Amino acid sequence: MAQLPSSPAHFINGEWVAPHEGGTREIRCPADGTLVATVAEGTVADSEAAVQAAAAAFAAGQWSATPSRERGALLARLADRLEADKEEVARLEALDTGKRMVEARIDMDDVISVFRHFATLAGSDAGRVVDTGTPGVSSRVVHEPVGVCSLITPWNFPLLQTSWKVAPALVAGCTFILKPSELTPSTAIWLLATLDELGLPKGVGNLVLGAGAAVGPPLTSDPRVDLVSFTGGLATGRRLMASAADTVKKVALELGGKNPNVIFADADLPAAIDNALTAVFLDSGQVCSAGTRLVVEESIHDEVVDELVRRAKLIRLGGPFDENAETGPLISAAHREKIEAYVARGIEEGAVLRVGGGPPDGEQYADGFYYLPTILDGCRSDMDCVQNESFGPVLTVETFSGADGDAAEDAAVAIANDTIYGLAGAVWSQNAGRAERVAQRLRHGTIWINDYHPYVAAAEWGGFKQSGIGRELGSAGLEEYREAKHIWHNTRPAPAGWFATE
Ligand code: NAD
Repeated sequence: MAQLPSSPAHFINGEWVAPHEGGTREIRCPADGTLVATVAEGTVADSEAAVQAAAAAFAAGQWSATPSRERGALLARLADRLEADKEEVARLEALDTGKRMVEARIDMDDVISVFRHFATLAGSDAGRVVDTGTPGVSSRVVHEPVGVCSLITPWNFPLLQTSWKVAPALVAGCTFILKPSELTPSTAIWLLATLDELGLPKGVGNLVLGAGAAVGPPLTSDPRVDLVSFTGGLATGRRLMASAADTVKKVALELGGKNPNVIFADADLPAAIDNALTAVFLDSGQVCSAGTRLVVEESIHDEVVDELVRRAKLIRLGGPFDENAETGPLISAAHREKIEAYVARGIEEGAVLRVGGGPPDGEQYADGFYYLPTILDGCRSDMDCVQNESFGPVLTVETFSGADGDAAEDAAVAIANDTIYGLAGAVWSQNAGRAERVAQRLRHGTIWINDYHPYVAAAEWGGFKQSGIGRELGSAGLEEYREAKHIWHNTRPAPAGWFATE
C-alpha cells in the first residue's frame, strides 16, 4: 500500500503540501457517521498552484516526450498495484461512500480493467500518412497531447470515474489537476501517492481537494488549462461549460440520466423484473445510468409492478461491512432531503406511492442517511419526478400500449425518448427483431437488450442530448485527450509564383 500523507494535504508538483489557508474537512462514513479521515480543504490559491505546476510540467515536455509505450507501462504497473492493494483501497472507497465492501471490490476490479485497457491503447496510434497528390510533398497526421487537463469527478464511483479520465490523460501525454468530490477524496489520495511511488514525473499529476465553488474557478477558467473533463450533475456541467467558454477550452461532460427501462409483454418476465430491481436500486440508485424510469406495456403492468413492490420491500439496507445488506445509504443528509422533496413533489403531481417513500425504521439506521427503495406508480412524462433525476432509489412507472405490435413499439419509443437526457436505457423482449428495432430508435448513449448495467472498458460510454459531450472509455475516450496535427512537408521547396516579383 502506498504511503499516504500523514496530515491534510494537496499533491502539487510532486509534493504533499498543506492548504494555503490551512483548511481541513472531516470525511464521515454516510452509513453511520464514523470519522474516516481529515483531509485538506482548499481555496483558489491551492488550485492556482496546481494549475501552475501542471502547466510548467507540460511545458517542460518530459512526460509528453516519454514514449507512449512507457506511459502505458506505467498504467499497467498501476493496475498491478491496485490488484495488490485492492482490499485496502476498496475499504477506503466503502468508508467514504458508505457502499458495501462487495460493491467496492467490484468497482476496484473495474478500475483495474480501465487501467489495463488504456495501457494497451498506448503506442497503438502512429498517426497516418495522407496522399497530397503533389510530387515531393509528404503529408501526415499525428496525435499530440491536448495539454493541461482539469479532471473533476463525483462521489458515486470515486476511483472508477477518476480512472476514466486519469488513464487516458496519462497515456496521451497530458498533465492534469484532479479535483475529486469533496465528499469522497480518499482513493484519489491513494492514486496520487501510488503514481508518485511509480515514478510519475513531478507536476504531471496534481491533486486539489475541496468544495467545487471554493477550488473550482481556476480549473475551468485559467487560460493555461486546455481541457476540462467533468463528471457530475447537469446544473454544475452547464456552469463549468460557461466558465470554460471564455478561453475556448475543450470540454468533455458526463452528466446525469433519466434512463428508461422498457419492458414489453413478450419479455422474459422473471429476468426483466429481477433486473429492473438492480437497474434502479443498486447503490441506492446513485448511479448515473440507473434504470429509474420503468416503461412497461400496459397488459403486464399489474403483474410486473406488484412483483417489484413485493421484492422492493425485501431489500436489506446496511453499511459497508454488513454481510446481509444488499444496498447502502445515500451519500449525505442534504442528498436525502433532496430525494424526500422529490418524492413529495411526485405524490403532489398525482403519482401513487406503492412502497418506500422515507427512511427505514430501526436504530441501526439512525446515524446513516438511509432511504427505502421507493416506487411511484401511475406516472406521466410531464411530471417532475419523471423528467428530473433524483439520483436515489426512486423508480417511476409509466405504461404504454398500442393497437398492434408496431404501434406498441412507437408508443414505447416515444415515452422512452421523452427526456432531455440520453445516457442509457434498456429494452426487454424475446422478439429479437423488436428488441433490435427499439434499441436502434432509443436516443441514449448505451442500450442494453435483455440486460441492465454491464459495461466494458473497450466500449465508449457517454450521453446523447443533455447527458453530456464527448465519450469516455473505448478508443474515443483516449481521443478526447489528443489533438490531431497535420504536418505538410515539401521536400522540393520552390517559389509559389502567385504574386508578381516586380
Ligand atoms: P456535482 O455536479 O455536484 O459535483 C461533481 C463535481 O464537481 C464535484 O467534484 C464537485 O465538487 C465539483 N464542482 C461543483 N461545482 C464546481 C465548480 N464551480 N467548479 C469546479 N468543480 C465543481 O455532482 P455530484 O453530486 O458529485 O454527482 C452526482 C451527479 O453526477 C449526478 O447527476 C450523476 O448523474 C452524475 N454522474 C454522471 C456520470 C456519467 O457517466 N454520466 C457518472 C457519475 C455521476
